Amino acid sequence: MTPFDATPSLIRQPSPDRGLVDGFGRRVTYLRVSVTDRCDLRCAYCMAEHMTFLPKNEVLGLDELDRVTSAFIALGVRKVRLTGGEPLVRKGLMDLVAGLSRHIRSRALDELTLTTNGTQLARHADDLARHGVRRINVSLDTLDPTRFRRLTRGGDLAQVLAGLDAAKAAGLKIKINAVALAEDNAAELPALIGWAHGQGFDMTLIETMPMGEVEADRTDQFLSLADVRAQLSAFWTLEDLPLNTGGPARYVRVAETGGRLGFITPMTHNFCEACNRVRLTCTGVLHTCLGRDDAADLRAVVRGGGDDRALTAAIRSAVAGKPLGHDFRIDRGAAPAVARHMSMTGG
Ligand code: SAM
Ligand code: SF4
Repeated sequence: MTPFDATPSLIRQPSPDRGLVDGFGRRVTYLRVSVTDRCDLRCAYCMAEHMTFLPKNEVLGLDELDRVTSAFIALGVRKVRLTGGEPLVRKGLMDLVAGLSRHIRSRALDELTLTTNGTQLARHADDLARHGVRRINVSLDTLDPTRFRRLTRGGDLAQVLAGLDAAKAAGLKIKINAVALAEDNAAELPALIGWAHGQGFDMTLIETMPMGEVEADRTDQFLSLADVRAQLSAFWTLEDLPLNTGGPARYVRVAETGGRLGFITPMTHNFCEACNRVRLTCTGVLHTCLGRDDAADLRAVVRGGGDDRALTAAIRSAVAGKPLGHDFRIDRGAAPAVARHMSMTGG
């Protein structure tokens, strides 16, 4: 029995007509939940060096996170990814995972997963596996300890590597996410990919997105993955894979390593037409598009005493207004497309 098994629940197996469909006919089946805006690292492309974090009372409690997430599952969401900030620094996170795992057991949910920087993974990998998590994404932009320390403003690469070892030993399937950065890791990317595939990990490269003010100029950091792909093709055979997750990544198999490589290219290729996902911030704000300022305040419904019907209506109404696509551009001196940082929205 977990703390949330007793939560009054509106969970039922959704019938097709009870699913979440937006105004463009796209079915929303994937929810990302940012469980905290806090983090033990300060990656230069993600956060400003001195961030002001939210007061605790603005952040949804674990029971509130469980309730809102469960409402989405009742509406047909089949995959939930916990993220942040750094999800593993949220106190009690494992209680939330344990609680949400009831939806895996009931088969209402296909997958409960998490994106982490890996620093705390050594402590939590076994519990994650025990609660039904099968796959995780670990963000890692470099294997050079000095570069890692600089990029993350103080992080210890050894902790992440120990976390990866523990996750592997716990039987978790791992995908490494790396943001491609012109001035930092461009030259290292082939070695990083080779290492990941050698470990049996999938690997995805991400273009940096203009979210929130950071100290660096994004035009200096930006590296087009179209260029990276062309460079990799000079010495590797990249075979297109038909895999489509409803997300932004396009996948290839690297013939020489046998591993899978994904490219997330919001800046050079628009991926919105098949978007199946929405994002809940740790303050209970629902963003139906990563790159737009649309927002629905679900915390107001929950804390205002709204019942499950009111919560469902608020979710449906927000999803109905999901924008067609983002408007990311990286121009010198331009303001970010959205003011909130990725750590707030949940990457
Ligand atoms: N702390 C966890 C982590 O780093 O995996 C989860 C949250 S982090 C915001 C999720 C992902 O967003 C990470 O892979 C990170 O590299 C990516 N990210 C953060 N800021 C970004 C930006 N401006 N553009 C592209 N990716 C970004
Ligand atoms: Fe923290 Fe993840 Fe952002 Fe890095 S990318 S600062 S680890 S939230």
